[in-house]
Amino acid sequence: KRYGKNNYTIYSEELDHEANYKLTIEKGLKSAVTNNEFVLHYQPIIDLQTGEVIGMEALIRWNHPQFGLLSPDQFIPISEESGQIISIGKWVLSMACTQNKKWQEEGHPPFKIAVNISTIQLQQQNFVETVAKILEEVGLDSKWLELEVTESILMEDTEQLKENLAKLKKLGVSIAIDDFGTGYTSLSYLRQFSFDRVKIDRSFINDIVGDKNGKTITATIISLAQKLNMGVIAEGVEDDVQLSFLKKEKCDAGQGYYFSRPLPADLHRLPRSEITTV
Ligand code: C2E
Ligand code: CA
Ligand code: CA
Ligand code: CA
Repeated sequence: KRYGKNNYTIYSEELDHEANYKLTIEKGLKSAVTNNEFVLHYQPIIDLQTGEVIGMEALIRWNHPQFGLLSPDQFIPISEESGQIISIGKWVLSMACTQNKKWQEEGHPPFKIAVNISTIQLQQQNFVETVAKILEEVGLDSKWLELEVTESILMEDTEQLKENLAKLKKLGVSIAIDDFGTGYTSLSYLRQFSFDRVKIDRSFINDIVGDKNGKTITATIISLAQKLNMGVIAEGVEDDVQLSFLKKEKCDAGQGYYFSRPLPADLHRLPRSEITTV
């Protein structure tokens, strides 16, 4: 009985603590955009045959006045619950596109900017108009933007979602399925929508070393993607063993600490376009 009561007390204190945290985060989110508290870090996506940077993924962080630098897992789910993800998502899209335009203007060989999109954004009636407006304001060609959607998004199989995916395709924005293999999506979704790329979830890449199933699953996803005419990116590449396996299996691209951690834009050392003289 005594333990039971104690346990209960601890449990309720934890809940209380958690509720407080959520409340503080939620309140803080209201002014985070206007107070310039969000930052984007960028992680390169590398062509595994040529070693060139073919993309950059934008990953949000929150410079919280009280808690310090917060990772997206610590506030994105809360912002999704409260609806604040809509304005945060617009900020991310606008910042990421602006940065990509800047890289292009600085003369680096152009690449796609990959932006993570939450279900809630993709379900908005005016989402595609928002994307189109941002691209126009920034002056970035739609072919340099890729949206990453998670498999769970595809579970919510609404007309609005299908319409938005079709409109994005028409606009010229490409779509990647993020965390591929971890969601609940049946493979038939791959037929219904035509995606440009799949990103093999980090957990499978992690299992390449030593684990025979990890190798088999990774190789199978790569060949599935190729047969469906989709590009394929391996996430979370951390070492040589994984890299040589992926190369051997003809995986198109890789991303992970092996190449670079996500970094602020100005810390990336990007090549300049070579000017060829006759
Ligand atoms: P994600 O889209 O799967 O992003 C990849 C995550 O893996 C990033 O974590 C990245 O820092 C981490 N990562 C990259 N390479 C490696 C590696 O080699 N090893 C390991 N262990 N980890 C690696 P991060 O930045 O903490 O982001 C977590 C998640 O938050 C993202 O997962 C994405 O789902 C979400 N997220 C990030 N930015 C945004 C955003 O702007 N909007 C939305 N809606 N979600 C976002
Ligand atoms: Ca992603
Ligand atoms: Ca991912
Ligand atoms: Ca993830």
